[in-house]
Amino acid sequence: MEENKLIFFIILILVSLSALSLLFPVPYFSNPATDISAAGAPEEQAAAIKSLPDTLGEIIENHEGLPFGEVHRKLQKVVMITSLKEELPEEEPSKEEEESSSVAEELGISEVSYIRYTTTALNIRADAHIEAERIGGFSEGAEVHVIGELSNDWVQVAYQDTEAFVHGGYLQEIDPAEEADEESSKEEEEPSSVAEELGISEVSYIRYTTTPLNIRSDAHIDGERIGGFSEGAEVHVIGELSNDWVQVAYGDTEAFVHGGYLQETDPAEDPQAEPDPDEDDATVVGNPGAIDVLVNREYRLPADFTPPNLVEPNVSMAPNTNHRLLRSEAASALEALFDAATEDGIILYARSGYRSYSTQETLFNNYVAEHGYEEATRFSAKPGHSEHQTGLAMDVTSEQVDYRLTQDFGNTPEGQWITDNAHRYGFIIRYPQNKESVTGYMYEPWHLRYLGVDLATAVYESGLTYEEYLGY
Ligand SMILES: [Zn+2]
Repeated sequence: MEENKLIFFIILILVSLSALSLLFPVPYFSNPATDISAAGAPEEQAAAIKSLPDTLGEIIENHEGLPFGEVHRKLQKVVMITSLKEELPEEEPSKEEEESSSVAEELGISEVSYIRYTTTALNIRADAHIEAERIGGFSEGAEVHVIGELSNDWVQVAYQDTEAFVHGGYLQEIDPAEEADEESSKEEEEPSSVAEELGISEVSYIRYTTTPLNIRSDAHIDGERIGGFSEGAEVHVIGELSNDWVQVAYGDTEAFVHGGYLQETDPAEDPQAEPDPDEDDATVVGNPGAIDVLVNREYRLPADFTPPNLVEPNVSMAPNTNHRLLRSEAASALEALFDAATEDGIILYARSGYRSYSTQETLFNNYVAEHGYEEATRFSAKPGHSEHQTGLAMDVTSEQVDYRLTQDFGNTPEGQWITDNAHRYGFIIRYPQNKESVTGYMYEPWHLRYLGVDLATAVYESGLTYEEYLGY
C-alpha cells in the first residue's frame, strides 16, 4: 500500500509539471533531446523507450533490476547518440500542432518498387523517423519490398496493410544468401572505398569512445568490422572525412570509426573511476558448478568459472537475443516448459541466458562510468554476482510486452503462467515481488532460475525466496 501511495504522488507531481510546462513553455521543453528526458507520464516514457532501435536490445536485456528511471536515463543517452547517426530532422513539429503531420507527409514520398535486403536487424516504424512508433521488425538479411523513397534517407516498405518505414541506410541490393555463394567465386576486383571516394584530411588528436565501438575497414556502416574499442578507450584520430567518420590508428591497417561516438574528455579522469574487482569482499562460493548454488550480493562465483555443457535450448528466442546458452540440464527443462506453455496457448520467448564474468564486468563498468560506483551497485550485479554466470538462469518475455524485460510481464497471461507453472519444470521466479530486501533485487517476473523439479517445487510451495528457503 505504501508503494501505491508513493507511485500516486510521483504521477501527481509529473502530471503537475507537465501542466506547468504547457502554461509556461520554456526552451528546455522544446529541445528534442530534452523532450525525451522530460517525458514524465509513463506512456511517454514507454513510448520513448519503445522508439529505440533493436540494436539496443542488448542494453535493454541487461537492465534487469534497474529502476525505471535509471533505464530511462541510460536509454536517453543512447537516444541522443543514435540521433547523431540517424540525423534528426531540423525541426520537430511544434507542440501546438496536436495532430501534427507525419515526417513522411511533410517530405513527400516518391513511389518506387524494388527489392532490397537488410544489412542488420531493423525496426519497422509508423513514420519515417527514428522516434516514430515501432510497429515491427525485419531480421538481418530479410527481403524488403521498397515502395517509396523520402529525401531523409528513409523508405516506405510493404508491410502488412499499414504504412511502414525503415531507414534506407540499412538496406543493400545484394541478397546476402546469394552473396555467400558468390564469395568464393568472386573476382578480385578492388572496389573503391568510401574513404577513397570522400578523401581524408590528415589530423592527429586523441579522443575517447562514449560507447563500445566497432572498428571498420572502411568509413561506412557496411565496412568490414575489423575490431572494436571498449567504452572509454583512448583513440588516436589520424584522419577526418566529410561523412563524420574518422580514420584511427589501429595496428598497421586502415581503420575507421564513426566520429559521433567520440568525446574529448577522458572518462578515466572522472573521480568515480572503476573499482578494483579484487575489492569485492563477498564470499566466493565453493560449489560454483552445483545446480543449487546460491549466488547473490553476498555470495559470488569465481571470475574464472565457466559452467559445463553450455548448449542453446531449442526454444523461440526474442529478436536480437545474443546470450542464448544454458547448461544442458536447464536447457532441456526450458524446452519442456516452453512446450507445455505452448500447449496451453502461452507463447514465450527466451531473452537472455548465460553471461560470462567478463560480459558482466563490461556491463557493470559501463554503469559505473555513467552513474558512479555507489549507484551502479544498486541496480546491476557486480561481476561474479550475476546468476546468469551460472548458466542456470534465463530471462523470458512475450510479444505483448514487446520482448522487453519489464515488470508488466508479470501481469500478462504469459507471466502468470510462468508464475504458476515454472516449478513443475524445475524453475523458480528468483526475484519475487516485495522481496527486494531479501534478494537484493526488485521484482523480476522474467528471471527464471533452474534448480531441478524437486527443489524448485519445494521452494515454490514454501512461498519463500531461495535465500529464505536456505535459511539465510
Ligand atoms: Zn535475469
